[in-house]
Amino acid sequence: MRFLALALLLAPAAAFSSPERQDKIKVLIVDGQNNHNWAAMTPFMKAQLEKSGLFQVDVSTSPPSAPGKKKDETPEQAADREKKAAGMKGQWDAWRPKFSDYKVVVSNYNGQPWPEPVQKDFEAFVNGGGGVHIVHAANNAFPQWGEYNKMIGLGWRDNKFGDRVTLDDKGEPQREKAGTGPGAGHGSQHEFVVTMHDVEHPITKGFPATWKHATDELYHGQRGPAENMKILASAFDDPASKGTGAREPMLWIIPYGKGQVVTNVMGHENGKALQCVGFVTIMNRTCEWLATGKVTLPVPAEFPKPDAVSLVK
Ligand code: ZN
Repeated sequence: MRFLALALLLAPAAAFSSPERQDKIKVLIVDGQNNHNWAAMTPFMKAQLEKSGLFQVDVSTSPPSAPGKKKDETPEQAADREKKAAGMKGQWDAWRPKFSDYKVVVSNYNGQPWPEPVQKDFEAFVNGGGGVHIVHAANNAFPQWGEYNKMIGLGWRDNKFGDRVTLDDKGEPQREKAGTGPGAGHGSQHEFVVTMHDVEHPITKGFPATWKHATDELYHGQRGPAENMKILASAFDDPASKGTGAREPMLWIIPYGKGQVVTNVMGHENGKALQCVGFVTIMNRTCEWLATGKVTLPVPAEFPKPDAVSLVK
């Protein structure tokens, strides 16, 4: 009996400190608002990260967006809307993701500004060495947040917002000044070839020089301060798909404080782009590199070929 009691006493402690859980890299996915189906995207991304065996993934979901003011709303409707908005203030005051508990934050968020304390916590997290992975429309968020713009370098903004960066035929970055050329947009969705500009970086070491990405939006005309960008991959934005005719950056790294921010503008939709083995490989290897500075996860045999897409089964 005494033995049993002792065993029961020790059991939870043993489970809590099991080496498997301790050794895993802690990743936080932030979502809750997005013009994309974040509620379907996040579970897929979480599952893919966890399937690698390296990560323990938590999710922090923000409060929903406040109801918008309707045209010709009645006084009752206005009062109801204001009541809902007031209720949300409490939810926002309670939403304080603890970034500092994690090595890496993956943003699947594109919505209203985070409360200032959350913004400050996020800045402190990256300044202190935290890693951030920005996925697709997460670079649309927060145009008014200066430090965020520095972290992402280029965001979904109009052409007056900042410079644009394209790559020439040799893969050299070219700046186009604010106010000239296209602002943020994309042509029609299609499969497109991704060209690598660095296959020695740990994230992309061993990638083929080119590979075909599954049906996606090819972001173009992204704008921002674009300082200290290390561009790992680009794609030619074919005018035949209503593109700009320029080579647009797809994947890049920007150092911020002691941390690093890796932006991948691919990944529009669950069911297509997100299931590309290329997208998943980038996400998993990015999170490992952000956490440890090294990458041990292999480039899988089923990685897309120059002329053939490959989806996660
Ligand atoms: Zn999209």
